[in-house]
Amino acid sequence: MTAVRKARARAGAMLAGAALTAVTGCSSGSGEATTSTEDTVRRFKAGPATSPSASADRGDLVVSYEKPEKPADRRTEAFLKRTKALEGVSDYADDLIALPYDVPLRAKSCGQANAFWNPQTKDITYCYEFVDTLRQIYEEQETEGSAKEREAAVEQDLVGLTNGVLLHELGHGLIAMYDLPATGEEEDAVDQLSALLLASGDDEHQQYAIDTINAWSGLAEAESAGNMPADEYADEHSLSIQRFYNWSCWLYGSDPGRYKWIVKREGNPDGVLPEERAERCPEEYAKIARAWSTLLEPYLKD
Ligand SMILES: [Zn+2]
Repeated sequence: MTAVRKARARAGAMLAGAALTAVTGCSSGSGEATTSTEDTVRRFKAGPATSPSASADRGDLVVSYEKPEKPADRRTEAFLKRTKALEGVSDYADDLIALPYDVPLRAKSCGQANAFWNPQTKDITYCYEFVDTLRQIYEEQETEGSAKEREAAVEQDLVGLTNGVLLHELGHGLIAMYDLPATGEEEDAVDQLSALLLASGDDEHQQYAIDTINAWSGLAEAESAGNMPADEYADEHSLSIQRFYNWSCWLYGSDPGRYKWIVKREGNPDGVLPEERAERCPEEYAKIARAWSTLLEPYLKD
């Protein structure tokens, strides 16, 4: 799993040096599927042909911070406020998707490491403890550079993960608020939405998807060591190892040319995604993009 860290560094280098090279050199799946992915994803970015009337967008995500109950939570509150991670993901989602009413996004001390949509109160809770738990996971992964550089890298990881997790929770909210017909396992469906929103975004948001993948990698390692640091969170979700492979697949599938380093193959032993799975990923991603674009079409904004 440490390979992901290397891959991430290489991705960073690619992003830094990169200009606007061609988009997908999509190799597998039919040409038709590729085209339709491109179209769908572009629509996700640019808005649908018909956008909702102004009155349809009646709400936003509304960020608030409740008083932290422990010293560690105070540190997390300060971190979240300083980086504006919650405001960032809220603005990102609000720019893309109309909401029927304001949806509170509350950062708070929960007494457990968790993040969740509450269907009764119709709000999202982001527990300070969850961020703190993931901070420890990332601290084990970020081992290069000075203490200051490692701290900065961990904070970037946490901002990325915050996006990945909260877009997932918003997905639960959208399904409930709009009564969307989620086919299959809802947990997987909203993971797919989160991955789609990040993978179809700019470089920064694509990096957030990589940060999120690294969280599943770290949590999977903790699980396999018999040490599950975020019990409550894990309860309602797929195993971290499954999420790790799924997210890796979807990000690769979103742009096989750019993300070929994710695939483990001859000449790229540090890759993490088995080739047999990778072959299907462009089509998997295309299906996800089609499904969510169709479900959300009435609510996508310009
Ligand atoms: Zn969930």
